[in-house]
Amino acid sequence: MSAVSAGELLDAWEAGWGRDPLRRGLALLGAARRTAPDAVADMPVGRRDRTLFALRAALFGTAVDAVSRCPECDTEVEVSFDQQELLAQLGQARPAADDAVTVREGGREVRVRMPTSADLAAVLDTGDPAPEEALVRRCAPAGEPVPAADTVAEAWAAADPLVDVRLGVRCPGCGLAWEEPFDIVGYLWAELDAWGRRTLLEVHELARAYGWTEAQTLALSPWRRQCYLGLVGT
Ligand SMILES: [Zn+2]
Repeated sequence: MSAVSAGELLDAWEAGWGRDPLRRGLALLGAARRTAPDAVADMPVGRRDRTLFALRAALFGTAVDAVSRCPECDTEVEVSFDQQELLAQLGQARPAADDAVTVREGGREVRVRMPTSADLAAVLDTGDPAPEEALVRRCAPAGEPVPAADTVAEAWAAADPLVDVRLGVRCPGCGLAWEEPFDIVGYLWAELDAWGRRTLLEVHELARAYGWTEAQTLALSPWRRQCYLGLVGT
């Protein structure tokens, strides 16, 4: 992946700001692919997340420091890992050419598409009380009996482990062990949000000191920007 510029990242931040997590994921994916968020809505979510992990590695590195909370005793639990190790453990996706999986149920076989951001958005927007079933209905062939949501979810995760990423967590307080879902979209968004706020402050400081435009400040390397900020502060 070629490096995404600071200006492109700020554009993605603006496109996703105040939006739901799905649209934020699309804004990030659009930045990684240098295209409009809507143009990548039909990418399967496992492939989307692989791209976002790669974008994150390029922007912020591979160390992940997340925080969870024990469901038993409410202790805050730090969850730290290297995302490259996690991806290696999860293994590669085995995508079919048609981005679908075969589900066997009741003596018949059904091809079900891998879910995309557009599918998730459609289910989210309708507010269906049974979202898992609604998602499977969208991805299964029309006019045929719809296979059980659990069976399809298993087949999706088998075809691409990134569809359902879970971390093994153990509470240091009470010893409870559980599996915590890890959402790369939410994690990367939080990092981008912090970076965006920091960057605008830097633009503001340098505009006040030197009269530079946003574009001029963003064109500086992060190192040179820090040098000027250091001079402004002296
Ligand atoms: Zn606990």
